[in-house]
Amino acid sequence: ELANRMAERVSDVVKELMKMGMMVTQNQTIDADTAELIIQEFGHNVVRVSDADVEDVIKEVEDKEADLLPRPPVITIMGHVDHGKTSLLDAIRDTKVVSGEAGGITQHIGAYQVETNDGVTLTFLDTPGHAAFTSMRSRGAQVTDIVVLVVAADDAVMPQTVEAINHAKAAKVPMIVAINKIDKPEANPTKVRTDLLQHEVVVEAMSGEVQDVEVSAKTGQGLDDLLEAIALQAEILELKANPNRAAQGAVIEAQLDVGRGPVATVLIQKGTLRQGDIFVVGEQYGKVRALINDKGERVQEAGPSVPVEVLGLNGTPEAGDVLNVTETEAQAREIAEYRAQVSKDKRAAAGAATTLEQLMAKAKEDENVSELPILVKADVQGSAEAIVQAMEKIGNEEVRVRVLHSGVGAITETDIGLAEASGAPVFGFNVRANASARNTANQKGVEIRYYSVIYDLVDDVKAAASGLLSAEI
Ligand code: GDP
Repeated sequence: ELANRMAERVSDVVKELMKMGMMVTQNQTIDADTAELIIQEFGHNVVRVSDADVEDVIKEVEDKEADLLPRPPVITIMGHVDHGKTSLLDAIRDTKVVSGEAGGITQHIGAYQVETNDGVTLTFLDTPGHAAFTSMRSRGAQVTDIVVLVVAADDAVMPQTVEAINHAKAAKVPMIVAINKIDKPEANPTKVRTDLLQHEVVVEAMSGEVQDVEVSAKTGQGLDDLLEAIALQAEILELKANPNRAAQGAVIEAQLDVGRGPVATVLIQKGTLRQGDIFVVGEQYGKVRALINDKGERVQEAGPSVPVEVLGLNGTPEAGDVLNVTETEAQAREIAEYRAQVSKDKRAAAGAATTLEQLMAKAKEDENVSELPILVKADVQGSAEAIVQAMEKIGNEEVRVRVLHSGVGAITETDIGLAEASGAPVFGFNVRANASARNTANQKGVEIRYYSVIYDLVDDVKAAASGLLSAEI
């Protein structure tokens, strides 16, 4: 690629790299600095493509109102554990799946489409639970148009019900309440409705705006009404997308399949994805080798709100990653590599801030750092308490030590996770980190320090804290 762009021979470029001590093959990726040296060596001008430019080819283009066509709504089912999310998803799929051409068997690909009796197509995300919803959102992929909140009529509102309500509200996604298990003799739908009032969800039966439908995933009662309610809500939302443009979609699920290589289920959001299209998805790229729908059938293309399995990736993307079709493979690869580099740099930068020395250095740059976060693990409760007390005495009004967490036992991956998130080092007093914690700490750049004398530990932290102190002057 580099040789190509300089109009030089590949073998000459490889030779030049070898002279610099880099044993590379022609398909190997080299870093930007090396590339720059090589370019200068050949007497060419370096033009660094700026960060923004790299992603420019997939820049969001506003679709013209006239190009927008109606698209099916995308629905996520949320609710408390055991209230019947999975049962409901299965019941809807089993009774309502759009029949395939050759009697295709439904495949679990992470999403499926059904048709209501009135012929309205609905797309359901097949991964119940809140983790999927939030992780997608945190990666910037807002795919859900409507949330169906399942509440069991024999159990009413429970903690995860409230969580689901809060998620839907935070995402500003309209909600429909499915009061499930209505077949049970002890079912009390009124209690569900009054419980919901306390969480500012006023259902229609209570003269509110939120549709509520009594259903049974077991007997199938009310399922048609629920689908109709969803169709009605969708109509109000007037969901539209332009199917005639380069496709964009979000990854719902992805895995490395033994026979097929990396496979991702992508929910198309705009445009139409076709076999042969070249794309970038998160830090991966590829060319669509095959598209497979929710009935396990090969399809040539997929338009807005259609979920499809995409084959032909160079690696496995993550749920929530966004897929964009590009014109050339070079563009797709460049964006993917650029993103991979950015996240690598970010990881390195995040890790760098967690050693004591670097915390001090950082404090010197940043006047606002006046808190030294740490994690303490000790062999016995007495030691842990003594250390925490000693820590709390260190510092004054300008700087203080904050013990994020203290506990007894080996340093575990959970400790490392917490430390990483807060940029804190971990102190082990007469305890060690287990193997997986050590690996994670290495990867994330979290510092682990071991002590067997409390004074040594206190001295080190004092030194670090005074480093922070002197930064204030
Ligand atoms: P999830 O954790 O929300 O996905 O809940 P599941 O779908 O796994 O359902 C939990 C339990 O409730 C299972 O034993 C289901 O068979 C049962 N269940 C789900 N829906 C109904 C229903 O409408 N009526 C009755 N009687 N049982 C149900």
